[in-house]
This record gives sequence, structure tokens and C-alpha cells, in this order.
Amino acid sequence: MLWSRISLSHLREQHTRCPAPPNPILLECAGGASCFTDAAHSTASFEPSPPRPTPPHPIPNRYAQELKDLGKVLAAQQGSEDVAHLNKIVLWQRSCTAGGLLTAAVAPNPLTMFALAAGCMTRWTIVAHHVCHGGFDKCDTGGRYNRFSFGVGSLYRRCTDWLDWMLVEAWNVEHNQLHHYCLGEDKDPDLVERNLKLIRDLPTWMLPLKYAVTFFMMCTWKWYYYSPNTFKMLKLHQHRREGKPTPWTAEEQEAPCVVGSWMTPWYGKFFTNVEFFGRVLGPFFAVRFLLLPALCTALYVGAYQLLGGSAPVAEVARSAYMSSLINFFFGELLTNAWSFLNIATNHCGDDLYRFEGHAAPRSPSFYLRQVTSSVNFTTGTDFGDFCHGWLNYQIEHHLWPDLSMRSYQKAQPLVEAICKKHGVPYVQHNVWWRLKKTVDIIVGNNSMRRYPAEYNRVADMVE
Ligand SMILES: [Zn+2]
Repeated sequence: MLWSRISLSHLREQHTRCPAPPNPILLECAGGASCFTDAAHSTASFEPSPPRPTPPHPIPNRYAQELKDLGKVLAAQQGSEDVAHLNKIVLWQRSCTAGGLLTAAVAPNPLTMFALAAGCMTRWTIVAHHVCHGGFDKCDTGGRYNRFSFGVGSLYRRCTDWLDWMLVEAWNVEHNQLHHYCLGEDKDPDLVERNLKLIRDLPTWMLPLKYAVTFFMMCTWKWYYYSPNTFKMLKLHQHRREGKPTPWTAEEQEAPCVVGSWMTPWYGKFFTNVEFFGRVLGPFFAVRFLLLPALCTALYVGAYQLLGGSAPVAEVARSAYMSSLINFFFGELLTNAWSFLNIATNHCGDDLYRFEGHAAPRSPSFYLRQVTSSVNFTTGTDFGDFCHGWLNYQIEHHLWPDLSMRSYQKAQPLVEAICKKHGVPYVQHNVWWRLKKTVDIIVGNNSMRRYPAEYNRVADMVE
């Protein structure tokens, strides 16, 4: 509560210092961009949300129009400052990775594991995520951060731009298209409540097992869930584009593809084992667990000899290699759990909605769905946002997926104000509170809200 009071008074003070513009959406206050940044300090609490009001019905046209206008203003304001901000974040991300690599062979230790985990997570969730959405396409980055070339087209670009368990092309289809434009609908591939129905449906006396399975998934979900599921969506997408008849039912296409189901003989094969292990998992595994530990070991042994160490080289190398492997192994578990904390909790909880039918992009229903099926965490400082993988502005990100990280900082208080004005629920909580809500959905303690189908705006429905 104390945090909330401090945060609110701080916010009020900021607005008093900056005279309110006639239209807070279209004009910056006298303090300029920094005023936006200051006002964006928002500390979310652990407290349970109060009973959530039902979204307005019918959806006001003005609500969607104000959000569209704000999006245009934010896009027009992007430029060299956003590129400088991106470069700063890339430097932070690379410093984490470099710190992890330089210390990996010294001894197994939590600092190295954290550094490796942070570098890996933020490369994905901040750098690759925003670049792949096109957040910097219109800024001058010399073509370095353009969505049409970043990480795609060759193994070289994947290795130099964003090497992870997922194929970049597959991520672009699964996340940028399906997840973002079908949020909370049956075609959303990341619908936690539907994807984990198997666990939810287990009897209550198996609750300890449900929690254990959830913990296992948190620590492994990147290769266990995201790799095969994104690749499946890419294959389905290519299948459709080639105009081939689809041999799979709608349920089979929507059902999650995880390593466990992939291994069962009765599961529909969307791709071959050679493709999956060779093309998707193989490069990251080879670099992360073979090449880099060997490189760290070689560096350490070289430095040891240079400093005049007298122990036998083979013994030093063996110890350094084991240290590296242990650091990479636990760093991997940590980066999985950390990214799960920041990503899986974005759209899950008993106060968020699922929808029937598909809403047209940028229609009033689309904007309402993005807000009422997303949640923000604590926002407002670069360091805090970095630790959240910049997924703490999920509401703003879903309204306009192709903006820069800095634009989301500017947008947050303005979007909150627009939602408040039109009575649209806007949820902002501490990330740990959202983890609890997500786990409650996974194990079946709670369920998502259903948006009444009769409230759907017919003009916006395309299916
Ligand atoms: Zn996104």
C-alpha cells in the first residue's frame, strides 16, 4: 500500500509540474519526453485486484480512435533517440553475456549463471522481440535491426543476430502473427488455459504432482514448448501458403506441440525429427553446450598459463570445462524460468478474458481484446524494464506491436488514462503476483473469464 501511495503522489506531482495539455493524447506536456518518462513510474502491488468490472458494452468508437491516434503520434516521434536507447540496451545485454562467458570457467557460481541467463533472456525478449516486430524498421539503424533480415535467411544471420532454441522464422509466424492477432481466441497458440488442459483436468488429489510438472515446465519450456510449437506453426503456415490441402483437424492444428507429444507415435507429424533436431534445436545446442564451454575453457587455460600457474594443464582444463558446463546448465534452467515468469504470466489469470470468434485487426473489438486479455507489471525505469524483459508493458505492446521500447514507456500512463476514461479494465500487478495467478490457472485452481459472445461487436467479427 505504501508503495502505491508514494507512486500515486509522485505521479500527481509530475502532472502538477507539467501543465495539462488540451489533448493529453496528441500533445506532450511542457516537460517534453522526460515528463512522459517520469509519469511512467508505476509501481504495481502484490494486492489482489478488486472485483473486475465488465468491459463496456457496446465498445465506444471513440475509445478505439483515441488509441489509434496515440499509436500514430508515438510512431511519428520515433527516431535517433529510440536507436540510441536500443543501443544502450544491447550494450547491457552483451555485457551480461560477456560477464558470463569470462567467468564461466573459473568456478560454478550463481553470478555467472545469472549473467548468462540475463544475456540470453534479454536478447530474446527485448532485442529480438522488438526488432522482429519491426519496431526499428523506420529508424536509421543502417539496416542492422530490420525485421526482414534480422536472424533470418541463413544460419549466419541466426547465429549473429539471435541464436536461441527457436527458429527466427518460426517465431515470427507463431508470435508476431498468430499470438498477437488472435490473442485470447482459440487460434492463439499461447493460450495457457487450453494448452495445459491435461494438467488442469487431473484430479485435485494430484495437486502436488501438478505443481511439480509446472515447475519442470518453467525450467524447460523454451525447448520443450516454444521450439516445437513455433516450428509447427511455421510448417502449417508454409503448407497453407503453398495451397496444399491440410490433413489435420482444427483441434490438431490448435493443440500445442511439445516435445512430449511429439515423441508419441500417434501424434500428427508436422515435421521430421531430422528437421527439428538438425535445423531448430541443433545449432543452439552445439554453440551453447559444446562450442562456448570449450572456448571458455581455452581462454581460462591460456590465462592460467600466462599468469604462471604450475598445475598440470590437463587437470586445469578438466576443472575449467566442468565449471563451464555447470554454469551453462544452470544458466539455461534459470533463463527458462526467468522468461517464463515474464512471458507466460502476461495473458493468464482469473481476471483476464478469453473470447469467441475472431476480431478484425485494429477494430474497436481488437483494441478491447488486447487490453482486457493482457496485464502490465511494474513499469517506468530502464533497469526494472530490463529485468522484466520489457514484457511489463504488455498492454501497450499488444495495442501497437511495432513500436520501440522507449515508446512503450511513453505510452503507458496515457493508455491507462484512456482506459480509465472509457471504463475499460486496465490491470497492472507485481510480476510475482501474476505468477501465482498463472500457476492457479495451470493447476486448475481458477479459470479465465469468458467474454460474453453476445457482447461481440458484429461489425468487427471476421470469423
Ligand atoms: Zn510481441
